[in-house]
Amino acid sequence: MENIDWANLSFGYMRTDYNIRCYYRDGKWGKLELCSEETINLHMAATSLHYGQEAFEGLKAFRGKDGKIRIFRPEANAERLQSTCRGILMPELPTETFIDAVKKVVKANERFIPPYESGASLYIRPLLIGTSAQVGVHPAREYLFVVFVTPVGPYFKGGFSTNPYVIIREFDRSAPLGTGIYKVGGNYAASLRANKMAHDLGYSCEFYLDAKEKKYIDECGAANFFGIKNNTYVTPLSTSILPSITNRSLMQLAEDMGMKVERRPVPEEELTTFEEAGACGTAAVISPIQRIDDLENKKSYVISKDGKPGPVCTKLYNKLRGIQYGDEPDTHGWVTVL
Ligand SMILES: *Cc1c(COP(=O)(O)O)cnc(C)c1O
Repeated sequence: MENIDWANLSFGYMRTDYNIRCYYRDGKWGKLELCSEETINLHMAATSLHYGQEAFEGLKAFRGKDGKIRIFRPEANAERLQSTCRGILMPELPTETFIDAVKKVVKANERFIPPYESGASLYIRPLLIGTSAQVGVHPAREYLFVVFVTPVGPYFKGGFSTNPYVIIREFDRSAPLGTGIYKVGGNYAASLRANKMAHDLGYSCEFYLDAKEKKYIDECGAANFFGIKNNTYVTPLSTSILPSITNRSLMQLAEDMGMKVERRPVPEEELTTFEEAGACGTAAVISPIQRIDDLENKKSYVISKDGKPGPVCTKLYNKLRGIQYGDEPDTHGWVTVL
């Protein structure tokens, strides 16, 4: 694209040429419609505005050295969106429709997909909202599915690096049997104060313990947690964390590398035992953790003694990025080539 400074893109919003929309009316999904309008005409009594019938997804498309465009695991996002739909009583969008929409909107905005060399990518944001008007608390009768895209910069501008995190006990992101396992905006509204608190204290992100006992590790902001020790990849099992597709992919890659994978409750004290740890998600793939502070208990769990990403995090990061950009073989069939 003409005037885009690819290397200095932030994780923001940039207008692109098209988005794609699909309406659910009279009990069925309609046809995909390519649209160049950025705004939505929404009834003021729509259920998404009042009662949080809103779900979203996040995935990326990458331009390879070979010029091909690769979309990472869109069927996993389609399935997670269906799970979210079941969770907040919205009609499930078929996987084929989801993937078709993602491919069409990426193709239509091809000129916004950053070049391979930039390390940037095209972020894809699907959104599903209840649109029909009502004041009583019921699921809507009508829905809108939209997918827009925006180019985003490389997460690690100064190179792959570690960050400090802080345990926040003052606020919970989600209840043990709440909506934490679904990708809904309400969880984010609930996280804003904890996130601001962490930032105000000079940390890169907030770290959540389980809401019930405040004993086990849940998530780091909008990313899953994993720790590495004794050739084992350990990640929390909990009823209130979002099932990250990046985490699922890393578990597979760790296994491929001959590591053991454990998914189980991880007590806070175990943080002293990890050789490496990271926060993982679509935005950064892995954000290695420098340390985690528990201010209330006056503890600081230093994970990276030298402040640098460890060898396992680095290897996993390079491997997953390599698959996404087409530099590494896609042995698990994760990539959809446009
Ligand atoms: C989206 C999200 C993640 C990361 O999921 P990915 O599929 O890996 O991008 C982790 N935690 C929360 C709360 C999220 O919303």
